[in-house]
Parts: sequence; C-alpha cells; structure tokens
Amino acid sequence: MIYIVYQIFSGIFTIIGNNIDVLIIAGLSGMVLVIAYLQYSEIYFKSKKFNHIKESISEHTNNCNELNHYIEELKRSYVVIETYNYGTAEIIDNSLYNFQRKERKKDIQSNKTHRCSAIVLKNASDQPIKYLCKYFNIEKKEESLSKFEKVLNDFTSVEQGKDSIRKERDFILSSIYNSIPLLIRKFSPKKLTRKLGFETVDISDAYIPTFSFQYVSAGGNSSSRLDIKLNIENLNHLINYLNNAIKWTKSIAGQRALMTSILREEIKERDNYKCCSCGLGIEDEPNLLLEIDHIVPLSKRGMTTFDNLQTLCWKCNRTKGSKL
Ligand SMILES: [Zn+2]
Repeated sequence: MIYIVYQIFSGIFTIIGNNIDVLIIAGLSGMVLVIAYLQYSEIYFKSKKFNHIKESISEHTNNCNELNHYIEELKRSYVVIETYNYGTAEIIDNSLYNFQRKERKKDIQSNKTHRCSAIVLKNASDQPIKYLCKYFNIEKKEESLSKFEKVLNDFTSVEQGKDSIRKERDFILSSIYNSIPLLIRKFSPKKLTRKLGFETVDISDAYIPTFSFQYVSAGGNSSSRLDIKLNIENLNHLINYLNNAIKWTKSIAGQRALMTSILREEIKERDNYKCCSCGLGIEDEPNLLLEIDHIVPLSKRGMTTFDNLQTLCWKCNRTKGSKL
C-alpha cells in the first residue's frame, strides 16, 4: 500500500519536475492577467463614462438606500417582553465524584430563556403560543395585543421592504446592463453595485426575537431546548390567541378588527394598492412598499377598525409618523 502511494507521488513530482518551467510561466501569466484586470477595473470605476451612468440612476439608488434606512429603523420596533425577576443563586456541586456534567452549562435563565421541566417543554412544543404567554409573562390585555399588532405591522414592512429593494435594484441594474463592460459584469458584480452607490441590504432575519424553553436533567447529563421564533407567522398566531383570551368589554367587542396579515391585505385591496395620501400605486411603481396606517392614531384613541385604516406608501407613512 505504502509502496503504491510512494509510486503515485514520485510520478507526480517527476511530471512537475519535467514541466516546472511551463508551470512557472502559466502561474506568472495568470498573475499578470489578474493584476491587469484589477488595474483596468480601478480605471473604469473612476472613468467619466462610469460616473455618467452612476449619475443617471442616482435618484433610484438614493431611493433604495433611503428605504434601506427606514426598514433598519423598523427592525428596532420589537417590544421587550418583561419576565419575572426571581433573583440569582448558584448551585455548587458537592459530590465526591467530579463528573463532567457538560449539559449543566446550558442551565441559564435569561429574559429570553425559561428553564423548565421536561413536561413543560413537551407541553410548550404542543402549544407554543399558549406557553410563550404563560411563561414569558405576556398579559392577556388589549395593551399587549396592540403592541404585538404594531410589531407585526413593522416586521411585515421590513420583510416586504427588503424584497422591494432587491427587486428595484435588479430592475435598475438590468436597465443599465448593456452600458457596463462584460468583464466588469462577470468578475466584479458586487463591486459594481457598491460603486454605483447601492448600500448593502441586510437580508438576514436576525432581528426577529426567539424565546426558548430549556430543560436540563437533574444530573446535568442530558438537555433539550425548544425555540419559538416570533416571526410573521407566529405573530399572527399570537395576535389571534390574545384576542380570544382577552375579556373584551361590550362596547369594544365586535367593533375592533384584528390587525393581522389578512386584514393588511384586505385594506390594500380595498384601496386598490394605492397610497391614500399621494396617490402613488403599484401600477406606477411595481416595487413600491405599501403600509397600513391608523388614520386617527392609537395614541389619540384611534381604533383598529376598517374605517380607521388606510394604505400609505412608506414615504407618506414616515412623514406622517414624524409629524405626530
Ligand atoms: Zn404616498
């Protein structure tokens, strides 16, 4: 076996040895080509021609970047769920045998992790939203419902906004596609978008909070965890759950609509996918981000009713928000 490997390697080295000059020439030519390309691309990105293209689409790039800033602001909309503070204590292992109980390290309580028994973990996996409310102290009150409706509204805008920016950017890039040299398009697509002035869009969903149930066995030898991500789908479940659990007073019951993803779509459809303030719609701008707004804001005792909701484009919505 060793002899065969030795034969193979000595064969390879003989070939390299015999062709060393050819390999050096190939390597050097490759390096020269790379350096030449880098020089060429640097010159191209500084050229008048490229600057002219950049200028011609600057209104669109600014628009995309502005929307990017706006959705970054919306990501912070998440409300902190206040958990009980039970104080702190430490378990010290006094046993004679100093076993490595590695799972015990996972036994930490935080405002997003609840330590629990195996039974609670099992039940929480069957009814996640119910157990999320119970163990993370989400009160079944209209106040909590309104908070989560706002989070759902903002997070939906973030998700749709990211999509809008991507589509709009692709559309702009395709409109100038033929004006950009082939080599640049092929070898520097990322640099091209950056040099054209597009900011990087964070497409991850790391801003969506996750709540966990953590079980660690008494001996510290086994553990399991259940993660509940408050994404758009779960936020809708949570809103429906809270609505069913809240004991509504007669004056409010039946009047109030639930601000779920379904209602958002219904309002947009009613308003013909047009902004009720500036009149711009998806017919004019297919990638326009449309949002749902309370005409009389909740802070001024406005209600979540069909009549008090309207479709606004993100720019009008942001302007209205800053005036309030
Ligand atoms: Zn508008």
